[in-house]
Amino acid sequence: MKKNNKYSITIGWLYPDLMNTYGDRGNIIVLSKRAEWRGIKVKVLPINIESSQWSIVNCQLLFMGGAQDTQQEIVNRDLLGAKGRTLVSMIEKGIPGLFICGAYQFLGKYYITAGGKKLNGLGVFPLFTENPGEGAKRLIGNVLAEAVGSNTNPQPPNPNRLLVGFENHGGRTYLSDKNQAFAKVIKGHGNNGEDQTEGIHYKNAIGSYLHGPILPKNPELTDLLLALAFEEKYGKKFHLEPLDDSMEQKAREAIIEKIK
Ligand code: GLN
Repeated sequence: MKKNNKYSITIGWLYPDLMNTYGDRGNIIVLSKRAEWRGIKVKVLPINIESSQWSIVNCQLLFMGGAQDTQQEIVNRDLLGAKGRTLVSMIEKGIPGLFICGAYQFLGKYYITAGGKKLNGLGVFPLFTENPGEGAKRLIGNVLAEAVGSNTNPQPPNPNRLLVGFENHGGRTYLSDKNQAFAKVIKGHGNNGEDQTEGIHYKNAIGSYLHGPILPKNPELTDLLLALAFEEKYGKKFHLEPLDDSMEQKAREAIIEKIK
């Protein structure tokens, strides 16, 4: 895709006031910038409690960040209504999306909080999450993982590349099928600290524990989401012009060196 002002996309940012922790907002900034640097207009549409479910339908890419349990309970109540049903149908029909930590947990069958409360999820991702309870160790630290293809989307989301990120969660997530993982953990805890899986890659939606934020540290993943969003809007494949990622690569190398 050459620099061309005739293209535009809308990114739906779900619950920016409530679900936005450990730098997750940086994902929206980098998605917008990498599109704008290629001359593509970006509209970021905040989707809040007072927004209707129709706002989601107008988006070509969805993003929701993480939160603590208190905020998650508020958003959970809202998502169990019409907005949640719309979100599920869009994910099922293949809209690209990135859902971090608490957002990722919502899309599974259920999440048991640190206080033992069960929050029913939307069930679009075949997984569940449980916090082992007060006193359990939080899974915190830098993560190095390798993106892999999943059985609902064989295309690895970051081809031949290592993913770097930062995790901080108490919940342990278990996939119904480990072949749906987003990545294989090399260093760090990932979904549960036991089975070396990280996140889920379901159709064009990615659920992940990687804050950091993940996208500035992994520019190829950002471009993949953008390319999918353009395809969603214009119904054809796009090749994005390469950008100078030398600073991003230096940052990645420094993190990889630190984690090893
Ligand atoms: N409350 C969730 C947990 O601790 C999610 C935390 C987060 O989004 N960082 O598992």
